[in-house]
Parts: sequence; C-alpha cells; structure tokens
Amino acid sequence: MLYYSTKNKHNTATLEQAVTRGVAPDGGLYLPQRLPRLPKAFLRNMAGMTLQELGYAIAAFALKDDVPADVLHDIVNKTFHFEIPLVKTPNGRYVLELFHGPTMAFKDVGTSFMARLLDYYRKNHPEWSTLNVLVPTSGDTGSAVSNSFHNMPGVNVYVLYPKGAVSIIQRAQFATLGDNVTAIEVDGTFDDCKQLVERAFMDHELNDALRLTSAMSINYARLVPQMIYYFWAYVQLAIAGEDVDNLVFSVPCSNLGNLASGLLAQQMGLPVKRFLSVENQNNIFYNYVKTGIFTPKPTQYSIAPALDAGCPNNFERIVTLLGSHENICNHIHAYSYDDEQIIETIQQTHSNEGYMLDPHTAVAYRALDEDLQSGEVGIALGTASPAKLYPLMERITKEPILLPKQLEQFLNAEPQITKMKNGYTTFKRLLLSSNGISIPVRPDFGEK
Ligand SMILES: *Cc1c(COP(=O)(O)O)cnc(C)c1O
Repeated sequence: MLYYSTKNKHNTATLEQAVTRGVAPDGGLYLPQRLPRLPKAFLRNMAGMTLQELGYAIAAFALKDDVPADVLHDIVNKTFHFEIPLVKTPNGRYVLELFHGPTMAFKDVGTSFMARLLDYYRKNHPEWSTLNVLVPTSGDTGSAVSNSFHNMPGVNVYVLYPKGAVSIIQRAQFATLGDNVTAIEVDGTFDDCKQLVERAFMDHELNDALRLTSAMSINYARLVPQMIYYFWAYVQLAIAGEDVDNLVFSVPCSNLGNLASGLLAQQMGLPVKRFLSVENQNNIFYNYVKTGIFTPKPTQYSIAPALDAGCPNNFERIVTLLGSHENICNHIHAYSYDDEQIIETIQQTHSNEGYMLDPHTAVAYRALDEDLQSGEVGIALGTASPAKLYPLMERITKEPILLPKQLEQFLNAEPQITKMKNGYTTFKRLLLSSNGISIPVRPDFGEK
C-alpha cells in the first residue's frame, strides 16, 4: 500500500519512506491510500483473542504486505507486552487504562511500535549512518520515546524540554537513562523547544550531515498500534454484553494523534457512534469545531501538562480524513476544561466512585457526563497513571499514592542533563559535535 501526503494526494511514499521520514518532503503528513475494511465476521471472531493476537490481526490488516509477517508479529508482541484493562466505574462509564507500560502513559504503545519498526528498517540498511531522533517534549513524549529507543544500536535520541516546566518524575524518566539518550534542558518554553527541532528538520546543511528522524505523533508508525486498542475495547464491551452499536469514545487531546488513530480504526470498520475530543485550556481544536477557524496559539501550562499544545500537529490528518468542517462536527463533539474543572472532576470521581483519575483522563471522563445520551456506552481513554503526577494527585485527593516500581526506579537514579540556552546555532553545534562531525556553524544574527 502507498501513503499519501495531506498536502498533495499525488505525493506518495512507501511505508518505509513514510516512517523513516516522519514528515513528507512537501511538509504534509502521511495517510494510507486505502485502509481495508474489516468484515463484520472478522470483528465477531476477535472475541476469543488475546491482546497480542488481536493486535497482530489488526496490524496485519492495516499494513497489508508492507511488513513481513514474522517481523510484524515480533513488533506487535513486544509492543503489547503489558495489560490494557477496561475498567467499569460505579456510574456505568468505562475507562480504558492505557497506562500500564514502561513509562505509565499511553504513548508507550505508539513509540514502542515505531522504535521497533525503525530498528527493522535500520538493520535492513547497513549503509545508513546513525539515526538521530529529535523530540521536543512537555513531559510524556520525551519519556516514552527515550525508553523505546534506549540502548538501541545505531540510534541517538535528543530530548529537548523547557526548564522548570516538566515534572520531576517525567524528567527522571528520560534524563536518568544516559547511553544513547541526551536530555537537553532548554532555557525557554515548550514552543521554543518545538521550534528548535522544526528548524533542524528544515536545515539542509544539517540534514546532509546527519540522518534526522521525528518521533512525534506526526509519524504514521505511532498511529498504527493506537488503532488496535480501540478494537480491543470494542471486543471487551461485546463480551460484557454492552450495546456495541452505541459506542462513544472520549479522547484527551493534545496533538490529536490518538483521535486520528480512532478515526482510522473507524474507517477500518470499527463501529463508533461518535468521538469526543477533549482538551484542557489549550482549546485550539475545540475552537475550530465551534467556529470552523483554526487558530494556533502560544502554549499555556496546565495541571494536565501532556495536553499543553498550542498547535495540534495532527490537525491536517483529521481534516483530510473527514473532508469538511461539517463532517468533522458529525463525527466529533468537542470539549475543553480548565484546571479548576479538572480538579473538581478528580475529587468528585474519587470521593463518589472510588476511582482515581489522573488530570488527562479526567477531562475525557468529565466530557462523557456532559455528552452521553441514554442507551449509549461511554469509554474514556485513560492516558496516564495518577502515579505519574503523584505529589499533585496526593494534594488533590488527600490520599497517599503508592509509587509503582517502574517509577521508583527512575526516581532513585541520578539525572544527566545538558543545559542549553535557547538558540539554534547552539543546538546545531551540539548535534554535530555529539555525532563527531565538525563543520563550521555560522552564528545567527539576532539570535536570542
Ligand atoms: C500525549 C498525551 C495525550 C494527548 O495525545 P495526542 O495524541 O497528542 O492528542 C493525552 N494524555 C496523555 C497522558 C499524553 O501523554
């Protein structure tokens, strides 16, 4: 199957090209030309499958002949090596807990799959030079990406994060790894980190000298495994005897990669009645749904840091998949909540239902309360474990949190941090010198 660019349907690529490039040369994002539609009988037959079996069945369908069966099998098995429970809360809502992986956030699924697929391509190309993965992060992306690529031969990871704006646990999850992972603390904002990386991708001189790859959710490889857990939820609900023709998935949104995966699953035949896109106060997509106008804004920090995005990367995918603003409104209801509402939801759900929501999952859970009609089945995607934000969660719920082993081990290790001022020349020099390449880099005039 070929993959086309959202900027121009005639600009196509193979899966390998799409995944190793991340972004199309014309600046667009890749989408599959035609996803196969799963027959109804296929959906029914998934009922007896384990997560790994179901994962392989869906991935093999979605990727057709693009990846050899044994390779895909191995990648899927290693990606889905942790549980994804579907929890029913006392008021009859569901939470799909996607946070039992190595860094306790749903991004583990996408980044693990992507890292292993890139590793396969790299092994097929001994002539390739070292792959340099660049990741700006406000927290969760950096930890998931670095853990997925940690100790992989032939790969360097550079995580750029804003000074003072990432939680202690989040920072520990990437900055204590060492080896091929470099944690760069930028004296600037998250948007500054993003701009440094975007500039690096457009710098021809740098791209001639180094092989750069984006690990952000613009990479199609991250979306493929994320389709799988929507099917997994469907199967669990069917087994539980729920009315699977009335499913409403509520998705905590930032760069809209998770939502795009849900839409792709729907195009593959998953019966979804409606999606809810739920943001925090960075409500760019919400405003678009309400007005039809897309206006990126500077990122505002919140207590749900992984939702802090002022310019959602996957917006073009959503528009391309659904075609028009009207059709987007038919498929998606948009919500947005501020910090105060998030805290209120966490407290009420904790005291009334005995379930602890993390701030990201909380927005999705709250939107179900507002949106669900009688007879509909609501599933909130649980994207992070409450333990990831434990000091904050303890303050909000007044309940002590037991730190899972995964997190404790990070907190006990010493972080290794490279501090950097916010300047492109400095960043470029750092990338080149850590790859052992010396070419003169001219200073930028007017650089901060
Ligand atoms: C990244 C992230 C999100 C948002 O996912 P997108 O695909 O960027 O919309 C939501 N919750 C958590 C915990 C995350 O880490």
